[in-house]
Amino acid sequence: STAAAAAEEPIIPPVSVKHNQLLINGQFVDAASGRTFPTMDPRTGKVIAHVAEGDAEDIDIAVSAARKAFDEGPWPRMTAYERSKILLRFADLLEKHNDEIAALETWDNGKPYEQAAKIEVPMTARLFRYYAGWADKIHGLTLPADGPYHVQTLHEPIGVAGQIIPWNFPLLMYAWKVGPALACGNTVVIKTAEQTPLSAIYATKLFHEAGLPDGVLNVVSGFGPTAGAALASHMNVDKLAFTGSTVTGKIVLELAAKSNLKPVTLELGGKSPFIVCEDADVDQAVELSHFALFFNQGQCCCAGSRTFVHERVYDEFVEKAKARAIKRVVGDPFKGVLSKALSTSGATTCCGGAENDSLQQVDSEQFEKILRYIRSGVESGANLETGGNRFGANGYYIQPTVFSNVKDDMLIATDEIFGPVQSILKFKDLDEVIRRANNSNYGLAAGVFTQNIDTANTLTRALKAGSIWVNCFDVFDAAIPFGGYKMSGHGREKGIYSLSNYLQVKAVVTPLKNP
Ligand code: ADP
Repeated sequence: STAAAAAEEPIIPPVSVKHNQLLINGQFVDAASGRTFPTMDPRTGKVIAHVAEGDAEDIDIAVSAARKAFDEGPWPRMTAYERSKILLRFADLLEKHNDEIAALETWDNGKPYEQAAKIEVPMTARLFRYYAGWADKIHGLTLPADGPYHVQTLHEPIGVAGQIIPWNFPLLMYAWKVGPALACGNTVVIKTAEQTPLSAIYATKLFHEAGLPDGVLNVVSGFGPTAGAALASHMNVDKLAFTGSTVTGKIVLELAAKSNLKPVTLELGGKSPFIVCEDADVDQAVELSHFALFFNQGQCCCAGSRTFVHERVYDEFVEKAKARAIKRVVGDPFKGVLSKALSTSGATTCCGGAENDSLQQVDSEQFEKILRYIRSGVESGANLETGGNRFGANGYYIQPTVFSNVKDDMLIATDEIFGPVQSILKFKDLDEVIRRANNSNYGLAAGVFTQNIDTANTLTRALKAGSIWVNCFDVFDAAIPFGGYKMSGHGREKGIYSLSNYLQVKAVVTPLKNP
């Protein structure tokens, strides 16, 4: 049974930790303080490795290296084609080391190995190839002016980019940030999440093997209030990109403003509605709503965490959603196979679709927080359809949990839980569900389920969210922009939209002697 699966001895990961230091100026170095911190295996809570713990001093050293590589180094002066070729070679090396990186990612984060190996590492390589393609296609304009002037714009890299990433998709978040920054000719200092430092160090080593010059990309492992805050407030960092919680987003925006007013892009939390209309195919909607919430153990900023269901199909939907959650397999993330990609709409599900169901949270803090939310759901009167407890005796596994009869003002309907807890709410008509779906401080994503083109058009235009998936969910692609309305963030990542985050526009005006 599934309970037995969690109690079994954890599978030994097919990888060892080769690198655990900071990577600054092309060199592996210890933290200036000499300190290290443990990174844990979420299956057991046991230490995987001790990793160099960077703080303000290391950030300062890394920023100096990035500054030098930008001001003096070859990177922004190299031809764009040369830069592009390095990104392409890096993508090749990622593919070559696919399984090893995927194993590190699974070990550190707890996500299904098959998901890391078949979706996330390949998607990372895809993103770098996408940005390699942009590197030599970034250019300014020649503009007409109301006078005898030759007017042109130059699109220049901003300089040193500081980047802070979370633990839910460690390698993909690295790609979303590093790809556009380097394609545009910037240099980077990236601070990884303290829960999941390993894959970025490994990948950056490969990047140097691909020909990346020293100092162009520096990786500092460490904690938020020390290393992260030092990066956000550094006077010599020209741009900051952050992905994480809304609470921390406010902190880093303030640090950026108080220091040198560096521009900031923020990709923050969400409480995304998933709207099942009365004409929706219920079986398909159940399957997709399940995937929208439970994918990556619910640890997605865009998780479809408010499942709104029309009253006509509500009872059937709740029964089937419960049955689907009960069917979900819980177990060791190194076990299991990636079955058919879940792509009911026919769209390519580029990041997602794993039906390998192992469910564990990244660490004890997240685990406890989710259990608190589950208790609050029960106390506030929602119906606990299934789940509600920890799963097994070891690690941070939580039972797939479904609540029905959820009301808009319950904490489980307003707060980002970041765990395997589905909240189902009932609605009567479109105007009502639009109002309720938009009644949130967040606006990251939304799912719309209907066969009616008019209903789809009405909803996609009315919903205030940066991504709307119609009859699909979590469809990611290098070309599709991602980002939030309201307190879900500022700016867009991926696609053509991400380039402007890393470029300055310089207007150059010269008089024309013979107009
Ligand atoms: P989560 O709650 O999902 O871990 P956080 O927003 O706390 O989200 O973390 C996302 C990233 O932000 C991590 O790399 C973390 O170390 C970093 N971080 C946390 N606190 C701060 C802070 N005060 N200043 C800068 N970075 C921070």
